[in-house]
Amino acid sequence: MTQLTNTIPAADYAIVGGSATSNCRLPEDAQVPGVRVVEPELFFETPYGVTTAFKLLEFDAAYTADGQTHRALAVRMHGWRKGFNWATSQGPLQVFWVLKQAGVRKIAGNAGVGGINKMLQGGDIVVADDYLDFTQQRPSSLDERWPNSVSMVEPYCPTGRKILIDRAEREFRRVQHTGIMGCSTGPYIESPAHVAFMRQAGADLVAQSTVPEINFAREIGACYAGIYLVVNPAGYVADPETRQKMYQNYKKAAPGVAKVILNTMLNWRVDEPCACQERTRPIMMPYAEEELS
Ligand SMILES: [Zn+2]
Repeated sequence: MTQLTNTIPAADYAIVGGSATSNCRLPEDAQVPGVRVVEPELFFETPYGVTTAFKLLEFDAAYTADGQTHRALAVRMHGWRKGFNWATSQGPLQVFWVLKQAGVRKIAGNAGVGGINKMLQGGDIVVADDYLDFTQQRPSSLDERWPNSVSMVEPYCPTGRKILIDRAEREFRRVQHTGIMGCSTGPYIESPAHVAFMRQAGADLVAQSTVPEINFAREIGACYAGIYLVVNPAGYVADPETRQKMYQNYKKAAPGVAKVILNTMLNWRVDEPCACQERTRPIMMPYAEEELS
C-alpha cells in the first residue's frame, strides 16, 4: 500500500541504494533469510519536499548478530528522482532528514563506479576507505547552522567496512579492501583530462553520489560504509562497447551486492562501540560545543 505520511518509523539501519543495486529488487531478489518487508512503499513529507519511496524492512532476531529484532529503511538511487538535477542534492537532503528522524545509526551506501585506478576491472568490488570531494555547489550540511571542524578521520566506518569486505568475498571474485572514492558533481561524465587529474590527486574510482551522503551520515551521528561496483573505466561511458559491458556488469552484480549489504546489516551490531559517533563532535571550536549542547 502506498502511503504518504508525516510519521517516520524508528529504524536502526538504512540502505541508501545506488546504481550497484538499481537493477534488482532489494531485498526481494537478494533472498537473504531473516529479512522481510514490513511496508513496501512509504513516502515522507520533509522540509525539502516529499521523498521518493522508502521500504521499511525488518530483520528477524534469529538472524541478527545481537539476537534482537531491528528495522531498516531502504531507498533506491540515493533518493534522486526524475525532474530534479541531482547536483542540487534535494534527494539526499530529504533522505538524510528522514534517517535522522528515524534515529538510524548504521548506513550502507553503494554505487556503480568508473575505475580510475588502472588495476581495477569491470565487475570488481571496492570497499572504499577514504574519499575526495570534487563536487561543486552541493550542500555541505543538512543543518546550515552545523558548526565547523567535524573530523573526517575514517570517513567510512571501519567496523562496517570489515563486515562488508568479509561478506563481499563470499560473493565476488575480486574484492578490493581499500580505495579512494573521488566524487564528481555530474550529470556530466568526467572528461579524460579530469580523470587524469583525479588520478593524480589520488582517486581510485569515481561516482557522483558519495558527497553529500558521507557528510550527512556523520552529521546525523550514523556510521556509513560504502560498497562500490566497478562497471567501466572512468570516462568511457559513451563508447558503445563499453556501454554494453557496463550494462552487463550492473545486471549481473546487482543481486549479489544487495545480498552483501543485507548480510552486513544483520552482522553489524548497533550497540557495539564505534569511533564514528565521537567524530561527529566539532573539534577546536569551543563555542560550537556550547551551541550543540
Ligand atoms: Zn562506525
